[in-house]
Amino acid sequence: MQKLSFTVIAVVAAAALSACAREEPGTLQAATAALGANEVRSIEYSGTGKWFQFGQAPNPTLPWPAFDVSSFTASINYETPAARVQMDRIQVVEPNRVRPAPVQQRPVQVVSGTHAWNMAAPAGAVPGTAPAPQPQPAAVEERTMEIWTTPHGFLKAAAANNATSQPSNGGSEVSFTAGTHKYVGRINAQSQLERVQTWIDNTVLGDTPVDVTFSDYREFNGVMFPGKIVRTQGGHPVLDVTISSVTANPPVDIQVPDQVRSFIPPAVNVEVEKLANGVYYVKGGSHHSVAIDQRDHIVVVEAPQDEARSLAVIAKVKETIPNKPIRYLVNSHAHFDHSGGLRTYVAEGATIVTHQMNRPYYEQAWAAPRTLNPDTLAKASTPATFETFTDKHVLSDGRRAIEVYQIAGGGHNDAFAMVYLPAEKILMEVDAWAPTAPNAPPPAVPSPFAINLYENIQRLKLDVRQVAALHGPRVATLAELQAAIGQSTPTAPTR
Ligand SMILES: [Zn+2]
Repeated sequence: MQKLSFTVIAVVAAAALSACAREEPGTLQAATAALGANEVRSIEYSGTGKWFQFGQAPNPTLPWPAFDVSSFTASINYETPAARVQMDRIQVVEPNRVRPAPVQQRPVQVVSGTHAWNMAAPAGAVPGTAPAPQPQPAAVEERTMEIWTTPHGFLKAAAANNATSQPSNGGSEVSFTAGTHKYVGRINAQSQLERVQTWIDNTVLGDTPVDVTFSDYREFNGVMFPGKIVRTQGGHPVLDVTISSVTANPPVDIQVPDQVRSFIPPAVNVEVEKLANGVYYVKGGSHHSVAIDQRDHIVVVEAPQDEARSLAVIAKVKETIPNKPIRYLVNSHAHFDHSGGLRTYVAEGATIVTHQMNRPYYEQAWAAPRTLNPDTLAKASTPATFETFTDKHVLSDGRRAIEVYQIAGGGHNDAFAMVYLPAEKILMEVDAWAPTAPNAPPPAVPSPFAINLYENIQRLKLDVRQVAALHGPRVATLAELQAAIGQSTPTAPTR
């Protein structure tokens, strides 16, 4: 085995050297020869650095939040194609921001052909239990992009997809289209691929730019490879790794598990639970909404996840509250799992009620092209209308008031809203508190986000009876929130 790999490396290096001598520097051919891209059928590279949580910026003017990566390994088979990316990472708590104590994460993300899955130990499993594959069909596009935006991957895909090339600054710009995805690479005068750009679909950002830069090329174990890889997505870094080792042509044998191959994504499930007269908790998935029946219109709180969920929720809301238009959609914050369904409500004609800081962000994001996956709004081109606030906003039909408040001073997000119904004493919130199962013991360490939510309820003197968690399993009571943060004596604030 040892001997075989040395032979392979020698072949790669020799092919690269001999080809280099022949090709015009700075061309696709020269870069392909310099990297030995035709001889490299698989690759494994490792390093350390940073990973960033796409779509979860602490406010819409900030980059994606950073995690320290103590180990990163990508194993890619270009022939399948398939890839496995493993890392050990832990969130960096930003100065002046309170977050729950970060937990070490060890994700294993895999793609093979048209299947993607994660490997993770089952919840509550005994340590050492074999990890179970979790199908991730929505991740295929992104993980496939990650294969063809590696140096060898780009050069191979360029050759396989009739790339066009034009001279640029002593090197060349190389473009091709693979399926529906366009790729553009920049090769410098030293015949190094230094940048790749492409675009992938995203619910909030539409055709989302991905920009990968490669620098510090050197020879690793017989193969040329960048010592530094930085990938941005939607304008901010998602990965920044310094490479410490590279192996050309290692065995990368990734089999699609049976339960991944046979997985059929379930249809979007929507169920309705009545909380009060005209107030409905619209649940059924991981993220929920609330529909409020006003005199001549409907107000929906929260449009999570994606268009598929919004369409199913809208259909259910219209069935529950017939013959009224959805006039307002109240948005909690701009994290993508809470804003991915907003555009469907814009197409529906609803005004988006959100914190002032989010409006310019949505306006810019929604103006981006949507050629990869056009949604209802892309086809309808309805202009978005907004009502914004900084501290408080009230929607009223003359009978029922719906109060929207900023959740101030929380670490989760700086442009963060909760919704309160004073007559019904119902509070709606996301990501501040997720109640545990009824009668489960309170957490050993209270969440600072839950503490902050309770402080806001007290500061605003809200008389809360029910807390409808819209990114949590259920509706709970204020006493349960108090217990969760170690407040054993319920206090009854007066308004
Ligand atoms: Zn969030």
